[in-house]
Amino acid sequence: MQLLEERIQKDGIVKEGNVLKVDSFLNHQMDVKLFKEIGKEFKRLFGNEEITKILTIEASGIGIACIVAEFFDVPVVFAKKSKSKNIDGAVYTSKVVSFTHNKTYDVIVSKKFLNENDKVLLIDDFLANGNAMKGLIEIVKLANAKLIGAGIVIEKGFQKGGAELREAGIHLESLAIIDDMDETTGKITFRKQ
Ligand code: 5GP
Repeated sequence: MQLLEERIQKDGIVKEGNVLKVDSFLNHQMDVKLFKEIGKEFKRLFGNEEITKILTIEASGIGIACIVAEFFDVPVVFAKKSKSKNIDGAVYTSKVVSFTHNKTYDVIVSKKFLNENDKVLLIDDFLANGNAMKGLIEIVKLANAKLIGAGIVIEKGFQKGGAELREAGIHLESLAIIDDMDETTGKITFRKQ
């Protein structure tokens, strides 16, 4: 997506440890006008599918997912990072290794909000090693819901998540795929799509 790639080139900051900072328009301050264009693009890419729910993970996926959901006219559910163990079995739980914080945590979704009748589109801001997506896929499986696909705003194509999900046959659409980024020069190279 041309507009997004231009914005990443203009405002993205390459940090050490293969981290791209996009705080000025995606992860902290949010450019809602850009989010609307992102929503429109996901609607174009997944518009032929029947979708009943959008599933994301807190916190940075929520803003994007809400705007995308407007285009599909469905609710958003976000997996919560849980501190307490579930005791009454009313939630689906999976484990996620955090890329940015380098620790493992449980994520939960209430059984009230996802079930076997749901057709689910996953949405997130970044795809790196794929742990967040795998955690959400696990939750979709536990709910016996149908996974329609995954929409990612920025995929770091030099990390393994995207390749693994595509190999697993998941319909993955990433609006910008970065093949290389250099923390010394700040140069970002996009995959031609
Ligand atoms: P994964 O689970 O695929 O390894 O990493 C994806 C998650 O980690 C996303 O939900 C995102 O919040 C975070 N993340 C991964 N890489 C980056 C990055 O380069 N920049 C930012 N801002 N977040 C990232």
